[in-house]
Amino acid sequence: MSISFSEDDEQQFVTSSVLPEDSNEGSLRPKSLNEYIGQKKAKDNLSVFIDAARMRNEPLDHVLLHGPPGLGKTTLAAVIANEMHVNMRITSGPAIEKAGDLVALLTNLNEGDILFVDEIHRLNRAYEEILYPAMEDYAIDIILGKGPSANSIHLELPRFTLIGATTRSGQLTAPLRDRFGVTLRLELYSPEELQQIVIRSAQILNIEIEDSGAMEIASRSRGTPRIANRMLKRVRDFAQVRADGVITKAVANESLLALEVDHFGLDALDRRMMKSIIEFYGGGPVGLDTLAATINEDAVTLEDVYEPYLMQQGFIVRTPRGRCVTRKAYEHLGIEFTNPQYEIEFQ
Ligand code: ADP
Repeated sequence: MSISFSEDDEQQFVTSSVLPEDSNEGSLRPKSLNEYIGQKKAKDNLSVFIDAARMRNEPLDHVLLHGPPGLGKTTLAAVIANEMHVNMRITSGPAIEKAGDLVALLTNLNEGDILFVDEIHRLNRAYEEILYPAMEDYAIDIILGKGPSANSIHLELPRFTLIGATTRSGQLTAPLRDRFGVTLRLELYSPEELQQIVIRSAQILNIEIEDSGAMEIASRSRGTPRIANRMLKRVRDFAQVRADGVITKAVANESLLALEVDHFGLDALDRRMMKSIIEFYGGGPVGLDTLAATINEDAVTLEDVYEPYLMQQGFIVRTPRGRCVTRKAYEHLGIEFTNPQYEIEFQ
């Protein structure tokens, strides 16, 4: 059994941009807290806050969700809306181009509604100030006109819940961060949790899959449900064409290797990143921007999308002077470990 794909496939699973494979993501999204797999700590806390808000007949406090892309922030926001039986409006920081966009969103909300702002750290700072009174007092002040004839109008808003999602909570300004009553950090999922997610998605998409096949996909999905779902769809194509449509462990393994995803779920870019640190910077330390320039990638993508998993798996470490690769990375790449001065630091 052998299959080959073009070079363009290099980053297909890990990228944080939306891919054609994600088109039916909506149908795969769990609708209730019970269906939402993993993230036990966040779910336990949320269910208390949701119950309490419902008992008091009040909207939920504003919630900030943070964690790497694809971990289920948008999904969780929709689950909260469902559990609270309210509507949710979705926007994102960069989509708000004028103050008027934000004002229109806020004034069109109904009592109890949720406003979901994805990538809230990218919201223009000037518009952020509109959010402060909106979040705190459910009101906004709009200035009409300019100069001496300018007029300010005070507008009451319905009581609403703002849910902000961010991959980098450190970039949020302190005044904005402080106005969220609840902050939840989403963690990378365990292979067992991802296995359940893959089995659930396979059922929805009518794909036949064995438990061991689901585990094979799960353990290579970098702790990320979106990647697991993407892989499932690509492996399904392979299974249909080459193996009677059933995803077994062998089929999953073979197709993922053909797609250049190795047993740790690392793809070509992960390997290029680690190899460059070894080949050009003697194993590190190297600054993120320098490394990004060396491998011609965006520093933000490396930091938000690639690094969390490489660090969790112990392939790279962050030091005050920059990134270093560990002995495990050398071994994984089959390169002799020649950097003993860092070994002590890493162990
Ligand atoms: P984010 O907003 O953090 O980038 P999403 O909420 O868009 O991530 O999740 C990506 C996909 O992963 C969703 O379509 C959903 O199908 C799946 N997913 C995320 N979290 C879970 C979960 N806890 N259980 C099941 N599926 C999940």
